[in-house]
Amino acid sequence: MKARRSVIPVFVPHLGCPNACVFCNQKRISGNEKPSEASDVHSCIIKAKEKLSPGTKAELAFYGGSFTAIPMEQQTALLEAARTYVDEGFISEIRVSTRPDGIDDQGLRLLKNYSVKTIELGAQSMDAQVLKLSGRGHSPEDTRQASKLIRKHGFRLILQMMTGLPGDSWEKSIYTAKKLAELKPDGIRIYPTVILKDTALYEMWRCGVYKEHSVEDAIKLCAELFLIFESERIPVIRLGLNPTDELSGGDAVAGAYHPALGELVYSEIMLRRARELLRETGTGKRVLLGVHSSRVSAMAGHKRRNIKILTEEFALESIRIKSIDTEPGNIELLSPNNI
Ligand code: SF4
Repeated sequence: MKARRSVIPVFVPHLGCPNACVFCNQKRISGNEKPSEASDVHSCIIKAKEKLSPGTKAELAFYGGSFTAIPMEQQTALLEAARTYVDEGFISEIRVSTRPDGIDDQGLRLLKNYSVKTIELGAQSMDAQVLKLSGRGHSPEDTRQASKLIRKHGFRLILQMMTGLPGDSWEKSIYTAKKLAELKPDGIRIYPTVILKDTALYEMWRCGVYKEHSVEDAIKLCAELFLIFESERIPVIRLGLNPTDELSGGDAVAGAYHPALGELVYSEIMLRRARELLRETGTGKRVLLGVHSSRVSAMAGHKRRNIKILTEEFALESIRIKSIDTEPGNIELLSPNNI
């Protein structure tokens, strides 16, 4: 039996960040007001130890800042705080998130000494103008170089991209996805832009300089991006911000925030696949679609949206969905004619 895995997040909001990216407010995203210190690392791990069942593989993750851009002594103190738990086998590995211009050989060597296995790099866009308008302070070339160095040192590489940033477009997002796929990451996180309180983007939106990225646009675009990464066999491990009470309660003022964004994107992908399948295969009046058990509700769509659309487009009497033994994402037409 596979050991259970659990991530213990430790938030270091804005630690190491040389500037404020226009869209970012880690205090609102993570719900944590102050960056964690070594003592907080201990208490996060001890709390997790009390809760997790024996045999669970725990991964410690430093999120919310630019870990490798934090002064070395501070990085060392945070990593050192986890060392005992790594040595005793409770923490199986550590991951950190950071920015492309915060990566160099010396910093990577430090991480190697402390069982860091995965580095998440906030690439956000591969368009120089979008990066500039978003106040990122790094270039697409920084992302290319950092990715190469991370892989050269043998770390797992996760790249993060955003959609709907200032100056962004559908075409630029497709371009970004293709360029990021060329860097052969082990996984991708896609974050459509959300307008958060107390950010420069909020002010840009209020005075009309920035037009919000709607949930509907984000769903269609993310479905397209997902298919690009899927065709390169790169797993998309996250779609949209993790929902929190703060975000749902008003911190996400506008933009592409939806607590179930990922599910809505999968639903859009299933709709497109079902359309293709029905076009290719031809149908009777009643259709039975077989999908993996984890995709039954995505296939049906929010409030049975996909069922309604397909029924109308293909002039069907009914569509039923059945859970079958297949790959997630596959759709099989079980009964093209009458059931
Ligand atoms: S997006 Fe990353 S680099 Fe920019 S301010 Fe937020 S945590 Fe720092």
